[in-house]
Amino acid sequence: MDVTRCMASVSDGFWVSQCSRKAKRDGYCGQHHPDAQDARVAKRNARWAEEDKIAALRSRQHERKQQLMDALADAMLERDLLPSALVRAWERWKEVADA
Ligand SMILES: [Zn+2]
Repeated sequence: MDVTRCMASVSDGFWVSQCSRKAKRDGYCGQHHPDAQDARVAKRNARWAEEDKIAALRSRQHERKQQLMDALADAMLERDLLPSALVRAWERWKEVADA
């Protein structure tokens, strides 16, 4: 092992070899230093958490929109505000969509 080089092992998916970069701190290059690795993991986890939050929010918004549309449709049906032809066409469309 070349002690002037970073002590991390790197793999190209087939061979494992010593990192070719120069050791800068504690025997590691800037990329492989444990602090840098930890920071990258923390950053990635933070991004995933953020993406999960956005996905959950989108899913709630989606559900909320569906509920609103359902409520609107129910209200219009109850008040006979929808032309019967439209209701019939909608029922037919649902049959086709569910099939
Ligand atoms: Zn390295």
